[in-house]
Amino acid sequence: MKIIQEKNNQITFSAEIEESLANAIRRYLYQIPVLAIDEVEISKNDSPLYDETVAHRIGLIPLKTDKSIKENSEVKLKLSAKKEGMVYSKEFVGKLEPVYGEIPITSLKKGQELEIVAIVKFGQGSTHSKFSPGLMFYRNLVDIKIDKDCPPEVVNICPQGILKSSNGKIIAENDYKCDMCEACTDLCQKKQKDSITLTPSKELAITLESFGQLDVKEILIKSINVLKKDLSLLSKKIVKIK
Ligand code: SF4
Repeated sequence: MKIIQEKNNQITFSAEIEESLANAIRRYLYQIPVLAIDEVEISKNDSPLYDETVAHRIGLIPLKTDKSIKENSEVKLKLSAKKEGMVYSKEFVGKLEPVYGEIPITSLKKGQELEIVAIVKFGQGSTHSKFSPGLMFYRNLVDIKIDKDCPPEVVNICPQGILKSSNGKIIAENDYKCDMCEACTDLCQKKQKDSITLTPSKELAITLESFGQLDVKEILIKSINVLKKDLSLLSKKIVKIK
């Protein structure tokens, strides 16, 4: 496993694993317990949005994880706004904070009010997407073989900017970005040359992005742990059947 790229809420790494295993880890992202607003009591809503729409928008606000909160407990958040303009997620008051404070909820005109009590609970993305901690996708890395007679025009045709000219030769840089669009091989073929060969490698480039409730590395570890737990339960049941 090698880290290819790391940004704020995103990590891309390479790993030589079966696609089925990568897919199982991806699916188990939605079994990790995550906090989200699950119930709302709207006592005042003068905004142009229906209560149901406001409730739906509120449910999708990612909340920062507080490790002191136990999985079967609930947390109450309150929002009380009487103003002219947009009401934002940061206006919720309570033990938990939204990951992004500038998420618009609804707008109010002069004299209008919005009063909400929200109940936050743990849940899983498999039951509702508001409990999803992030997303994961993967694809095979590509081995790019370039011959000496490669036409220099390929440099400008690669949409990922991978192909470069160096000392009269064409080279590939950051080849993990290659998505096998085949623009380079098509151009070579038009010039009656097979100077570039693209071969999918056994390694996968896996990208994991967090919606902010949990750190990306934590999401990966938790997903693998929940998968392992389920597999061990399954193997115990199989042993009993035998
Ligand atoms: S297949 Fe597409 S992305 Fe990959 S090197 Fe060729 S032009 Fe670039």
